[in-house]
Amino acid sequence: MALLQISEPGMSPEPHQRRLAVGIDLGTTHSLVAAVRSGLAEVLRNEQNEPLLPSVVRYRQAGEIVVGQSALDGAADDPVNTIVSVKRFMGRGLADAHRHRSPYTFIDSPGMVKLATVAGERSPVEVSAEILRTLRLRAEAALGGELVGAVITVPAYFDDAQRQATKDAARLAGLDVLRLLNEPTAAAIAYGLDHASEGVYAVYDLGGGTFDISILRLTRGVFEVIATGGDTALGGDDFDRRLAEFFVRDNALDELAPQDLRRVLMAARRCKEQLSLQGEALIEADISARGRLATSVTAAQFRAMTADLLDRTLDAVRRVLRDSGLSINDVTGVVLVGGSTRMPQVGESLAKLFGKAPLTDLDPDQVVALGAAMQADLLAGNHSGSDPDWLLLDVIPLSLGLETMGGLVERIISRNSTIPVARAQEFTTFKEGQTAMALHVVQGERELVADCRSLARFELRGIPPMAAGAARIRVMFQVDADGLLSVTAREQSQGIEASIEVKPSYGLSDDDIARMLKDSFGSADVDMKARALREQQVDADRLLEATQVALDADADLLDAAELEDIGAQMRSLKLAAGGDDSALIATAVDALARSTDAFAARRMDRAVRQALAGRRLDDIA
Ligand code: ADP
Ligand code: MG
Repeated sequence: MALLQISEPGMSPEPHQRRLAVGIDLGTTHSLVAAVRSGLAEVLRNEQNEPLLPSVVRYRQAGEIVVGQSALDGAADDPVNTIVSVKRFMGRGLADAHRHRSPYTFIDSPGMVKLATVAGERSPVEVSAEILRTLRLRAEAALGGELVGAVITVPAYFDDAQRQATKDAARLAGLDVLRLLNEPTAAAIAYGLDHASEGVYAVYDLGGGTFDISILRLTRGVFEVIATGGDTALGGDDFDRRLAEFFVRDNALDELAPQDLRRVLMAARRCKEQLSLQGEALIEADISARGRLATSVTAAQFRAMTADLLDRTLDAVRRVLRDSGLSINDVTGVVLVGGSTRMPQVGESLAKLFGKAPLTDLDPDQVVALGAAMQADLLAGNHSGSDPDWLLLDVIPLSLGLETMGGLVERIISRNSTIPVARAQEFTTFKEGQTAMALHVVQGERELVADCRSLARFELRGIPPMAAGAARIRVMFQVDADGLLSVTAREQSQGIEASIEVKPSYGLSDDDIARMLKDSFGSADVDMKARALREQQVDADRLLEATQVALDADADLLDAAELEDIGAQMRSLKLAAGGDDSALIATAVDALARSTDAFAARRMDRAVRQALAGRRLDDIA
């Protein structure tokens, strides 16, 4: 996926004008919200000073909804109504949902599964929205104001349905999505790799239930995710399970009741996290029939019992490099992401594999949220510090559209649409008997073609002659994953086609993009007025053209006085349309339309008579 780098203008808004925007890492296990404050990205904490929000939502009987740690605490008692790892179900159907072991009752529904809870059926989008809402409230409390928007991260491999589901969840939560950002890209941004030298970077993300390896390439200001791999069923949970099995064996327990199992797993997780810091730790849990039990584990034992899990991740790293035609030596740097990379054996193995120590300065479970916050701050138009800031985009940086009558832009694909993307729209002919159509592809946020950048022009020829407005021309804009735009125009009745390929934003300097974005923010009102005027002028031209066609064909239907009257109205409309008073144009359009009413009716009669002449009625229907 192409990531286009653009720079922001070097002006710093007044402090009170600072627009509050946040970055959100909506994780499978944990979610975080971060923001840039006084020029530094930081994770926003709750009242208990906790940075991580467990991605857990518990639905209770009386409509009460609990989110985060207290929901997780209740998970053992109420597994069916406590939704964990909902991210796995986003944009997914029933078959995919059943691939993961979970205690939920799924309901098949078109597009995405739903979950049965005491509060009724809930879609994964609604569950995720509860998490996002909690983070929004946390951010608003911490920042002291309403947010203009958020950058939300998603795994690089997320498809359109999963991305759309994430956006929908944000909207439900009252968040304006500035853009979705790939998690590995966010991590790279947090480390400032976009300022670094060109090269290939490996982002190794071992979370709670998933492992993602992404290879990013930075060349001449363009960041690309060139390959992704990993395992959607491998993460910290598997390390917990190994410890739990050890505990079960050590205490000679047979089958554990589901609630006991949950408690043992939680104890195992606490033990695992301690072993990242110390050489030995206890797994301690209450078991229904046996009371409190404890098992001691050393770091060496833990490493041995989980070595194969770690090896699986290293195999995936080698595989993804091989698949992208790269060798270990091509990798400039390695970034660690995800809470599970706190286990020292992860960094050690990667250092051995790559021959260099991975980047670990930033908190691995905060790094994605921090990068997202930096991106959000830029997108919101804030500026931190004096050196140029860079924006990394794997979305369309500026809207793409077509010129329509009167020099107006019809926007087809909006700015910040994630690529690849395709959108089609129907256009029609303006003139009687028009057989060719000129298509002008433009890029920019302004309403008038003159204010946008021209990307390409091409023509569709061979349109069968028809009345103005009768032809149907379907124009399709497609941007592929590499940011390549192709535009196809197709006349619907005969199927004739013309197309062109354009590279959007190439050749457009960073300053150009920044200026165009900035212009569009400040000019919405002016643009609206200009657009209204242009539309009126187009209406006027269309009416004048149609009236002239009618006069050329059927002037004999009018008497001298009527002819004189219509001529006078046409002259005054022409005069008005040349000016910039939209009210005047509107009045003149009305006047001409009124004075041609009777003429139009007579033409209609004549046309019908001509059409019926010599034909049987059933030919006509
Ligand atoms: P996700 O991206 O899936 O939401 P996170 O990046 O938050 O996941 O990682 C959560 C995982 O990280 C859990 O399995 C948790 O136990 C593990 N983890 C967190 N801290 C540590 C630690 N100090 N040592 C080992 N594992 C840890
Ligand atoms: Mg994560």
